[in-house]
Amino acid sequence: MEKVSEIINKARKMNIAIPAFNVPYLPMIEPIIQAVIDEDSFSLIEVARVEWMKTGAKGPREVYEEFIKWEKPNYVRLHLDHVPVIDEDNKRVDYLPIIKEALEMGYESVMVDGSRLDLEANIQATRRVAELAHKKDAACEAELGAVMGHEPGPLPPYEEIFASGKGFTDVKEAEIFVAQTNCDWLSVAIGNIHGAISGALRNKKKPEARLDIKHLSRLSEVTRIPLVLHGGSGIAREYYLEAVKNGISKVNVGTELRQTYEAALQEDNSIAKAQDAVYNHTRNLISGYYNVSGIQKKIFG
Ligand SMILES: [Zn+2]
Repeated sequence: MEKVSEIINKARKMNIAIPAFNVPYLPMIEPIIQAVIDEDSFSLIEVARVEWMKTGAKGPREVYEEFIKWEKPNYVRLHLDHVPVIDEDNKRVDYLPIIKEALEMGYESVMVDGSRLDLEANIQATRRVAELAHKKDAACEAELGAVMGHEPGPLPPYEEIFASGKGFTDVKEAEIFVAQTNCDWLSVAIGNIHGAISGALRNKKKPEARLDIKHLSRLSEVTRIPLVLHGGSGIAREYYLEAVKNGISKVNVGTELRQTYEAALQEDNSIAKAQDAVYNHTRNLISGYYNVSGIQKKIFG
């Protein structure tokens, strides 16, 4: 079986980005996998710590157990998204045991998020996790720069973030970071933002984001590894397509499908109907916005 790191490396060479769908609720897993299969595509299924702490994902084990009921390794692989060293509420997290347990269980890639640490501490934490992951033949994703939005409370106005480049991943730091940590994939901040996950904002439409493509291509040049775009819901599409040509090889999709699931459930109070809504929306995203239908042949030959 091909390693997921090899698959994402291929995606980078072919200038395509593999979607990684977040599953804040366990019943979302089946319809997303079915949609990927029916579109003859390839995706990752992922869960972040915040989704089992604050939404309905329960825990990495519950997600794993649901995943293996439906998995088809030629179509989907399981990724552990954001395990922060310092979380969105500014609390320290005992992150290593969480990551170790997931690797033991069979997660093929894991993300350590040290983005709220200073550079040196982020390097230390990431290097450690990359070592652990590589021992298990798994891949390690890290984050440098600040992809804002998960924190409680309102964001500064989007245009302010974009114009000032506040929190953008620094090019020089990215070069040092990747060389010293040996991480496989890097989540970068280039104007993208996470959808709100708590409070009144979680049901609101995200502000439409833009991306600094020049900045991205410099990051790609110096790091030479697959770059990851978080906050993949709600980016103006022309920017997204340029980003994929300039080094983005994995894109995290959370808000859109979560809101689809929650809205459908609220309307009908039926999990089956909410699953149908997620299935249809996932197929539309794959064939439309992300444009990765029928990539099986490209990836697996
Ligand atoms: Zn993220």
